[in-house]
Amino acid sequence: MKYFDYAATTPPDSDVVRTMAEIMEAHYGNPSSIHGYGERADQLLRRARSGCAAALGVKPEEIVFTSGATESNNLAIKGVALRYQTRGKHLITTATEHASVYESFLQLQQWGWEVTWLPVDSDGRVSTQQVMDALRPDTVLVSLMHVNNETGIIHPVAEIGNRLKSAAPRVLFHVDGVQAFGKLEAKPASWGADLYSLSAHKIRGPKGAGLLYVRSGVELTPLLSGGSQEQGMRAGTENVPLIVGMAKAMRLAAERQLAFAGRATVLRDRIMQTIETIPGLRMNSRKDGAPHIIHFSYPGMKAEVALHTLEQLGIIVSTQSACSSRSAEPSRVLLAMGRDAASASGGLRISLGNEHTEEDVALLEQALHQMVAQLRPLERR
Ligand code: PLP
Repeated sequence: MKYFDYAATTPPDSDVVRTMAEIMEAHYGNPSSIHGYGERADQLLRRARSGCAAALGVKPEEIVFTSGATESNNLAIKGVALRYQTRGKHLITTATEHASVYESFLQLQQWGWEVTWLPVDSDGRVSTQQVMDALRPDTVLVSLMHVNNETGIIHPVAEIGNRLKSAAPRVLFHVDGVQAFGKLEAKPASWGADLYSLSAHKIRGPKGAGLLYVRSGVELTPLLSGGSQEQGMRAGTENVPLIVGMAKAMRLAAERQLAFAGRATVLRDRIMQTIETIPGLRMNSRKDGAPHIIHFSYPGMKAEVALHTLEQLGIIVSTQSACSSRSAEPSRVLLAMGRDAASASGGLRISLGNEHTEEDVALLEQALHQMVAQLRPLERR
């Protein structure tokens, strides 16, 4: 089997797994305890916090550890909306965000906030000008993903953040960096971002660990009531082994970023070229998108059928995003890009990782040709 679903999750790095196992066994103290066991755990936590902060170019006290990016996104969006509601109740996002962002905004809408859902163009992109045009005196938050998890399109977060900071400094800017970290440069503070979400399991770290960068001075209403961990923004005993694992995964991903992006771009371009030569398939990604994601539609076929056919041929890919792939609905992202229902329900995503080689890609290409040849007689017309 060849696994091409790194945007859903990645195999944890063996170094990361070893470190986490060691800590789980030997340093199980509660970092809030004041005895030696607690102090040791607290030291590990501090070191991990500094490591995560360094990888993002921010201060350690600006890092809030969470259970993953779903929680980070919920905390950023609802935490800001609740905390700054007296300033205004208008929020801006796009129609193509990850479910954890999309559903958070839907919930706030039900609770009485007003949300501007920016439309995207046929490539899935929003422009800086669209964001600026949507601003109102009562706008408190703009939330945007850096890289789209289905198509790999890159949003101009640095430009948007810097324009916001000069034109509307009171508007907070949240970036969901989950699919970008380790593939593109991640410098939220220099972009003018106030909040930045990241997930460990997309970068060879463990599932169930994530973080939210919260710029000094920004306040959030916590979503969990309890202890005063994480600067009072996220109650609950910190999961030290997973957090240390995430810090290590972030360091490795940052160190490998340039080399990975270079290698993945070559493989991605080759795969895109192949897909473009297969009649019946339609490319949804662009060559100026993220280096690790290739998304295409097979409008003649339901995506699940294509996925299982590829699996029988030894190739693992995904339909939509992992969180939505069990849903029978066509992709919300592709519909927002103006694709018809057949394209939106026949979408497949190939995503690359560190160890993929030219040989793996050759197997993938062969399987794609074979899949279409096998399914051709069953295509809907
Ligand atoms: N944001 C994006 C862009 C994602 O791709 C994902 C995961 O698929 C998430 C957020 C949620 O991350 P987690 O699995 O850590 O909750």
